[in-house]
Amino acid sequence: MMATDFNIEFSERLKALPPYLFVEIDKAKRAAKAAGRDIIDLGVGDPDLPTPQHIIDALNKAAQSPANHHYAFDAGLPQLRTDIAQWFNKRFGVSLDPDSEIYPLVGSKEGLAHLPLGIINPGEKVILTDPAYPAYRASINFAGGKIINLPLKESHDFVPDLKRVEQIKDAKFMYVNYPNNPTSATATKEFYQELVAIARAKGIILISDMAYSEIYFDGIKPPSILEVEGAKDIAIEFHSFSKTYNMTGWRIGWACGNRTLIAALAKVKSNFDSGIFQAIQLAAIAALKTDPRDLDDLRNLYQERRDCLINGLRSIGWKIPPPKAAFYVWAKIPKSFNDSMETAKAFLEKTDIVATPGVGFGEAGEGYIRMTITVPKDRIALAVERLRKVL
Ligand SMILES: *Cc1c(COP(=O)(O)O)cnc(C)c1O
Repeated sequence: MMATDFNIEFSERLKALPPYLFVEIDKAKRAAKAAGRDIIDLGVGDPDLPTPQHIIDALNKAAQSPANHHYAFDAGLPQLRTDIAQWFNKRFGVSLDPDSEIYPLVGSKEGLAHLPLGIINPGEKVILTDPAYPAYRASINFAGGKIINLPLKESHDFVPDLKRVEQIKDAKFMYVNYPNNPTSATATKEFYQELVAIARAKGIILISDMAYSEIYFDGIKPPSILEVEGAKDIAIEFHSFSKTYNMTGWRIGWACGNRTLIAALAKVKSNFDSGIFQAIQLAAIAALKTDPRDLDDLRNLYQERRDCLINGLRSIGWKIPPPKAAFYVWAKIPKSFNDSMETAKAFLEKTDIVATPGVGFGEAGEGYIRMTITVPKDRIALAVERLRKVL
């Protein structure tokens, strides 16, 4: 039979997504690797260390049991939710009802991306900080929301200017993500108090993404928005096992907070997925019991790498304020470059270093480049040596 050209087109909602700006860099990176060049990849936000052994053991054991081979459905194992509640109370001093205020997710990205479908109607306004984790923008587009960009400025420590939030009329919800990807900024409890007061007065739903809650430096623990009195009336917070326990590939996280928002998310999800593999839920229960000293070791390791990169770059004349949390260095591009894309391309071509152009996270990210510290210290030191020759 002759092939027929059916001219299949993507949907309007798919076509409306912003262009994927990393395509060119990705292509160049693959070509460089294929050519045998020694690439130092400071582009991907994915821990290089393996998942701790006790978590792998829990998965192995649970995978053997046929009882875990079925659809897990909905809210999953009650024990996972009670253990999350216990962990949350210990870490943030906030009590959560395991049955109505906690919901497990197939990774926090999944929940973040599905929630808008459950709460916004086409045309409703959503406040999005810029730069931001790209999945937010896509999911608002899918749900038909109208994005109001709120720039995060270095002069304002990369937290939103709340005076501007007060001026925005009829916003349905707003994202906050601290520790922040890509800027690594953190937020204080005072900031959350002000934000919650404004959101309550204006009826704005708050979505807090705390994927990096446990990756912090210098002993300063990032607070949860749910620590603020009254936050539970309007806020939902997303947490992840990915970054804390080196479990990015396992796909498990949770949402917690306002029960109506949790119910909306649960209803959307029940139409998309059928729960999280129970053996992975059991492994997550083991993860929550990780020796706190192991997490201290992980933070110390990232802190050493951070200092190696920041001090190294300073020694070659590139001064960047050290991040307080997460595993990103968000750096103003050197003066010899015009924009972030040109910088990223030059790094790859001249130094075999992959870094992410800031503009890929939103217009306000232009002028910056993101480098991750998810590679060993000797590779970071080598990256600095290579950069010395071009800067
Ligand atoms: C890594 C990341 C996530 C996604 O985490 P998963 O639980 O692996 O889906 C969510 N938000 C931000 C800002 C991230 O960087």
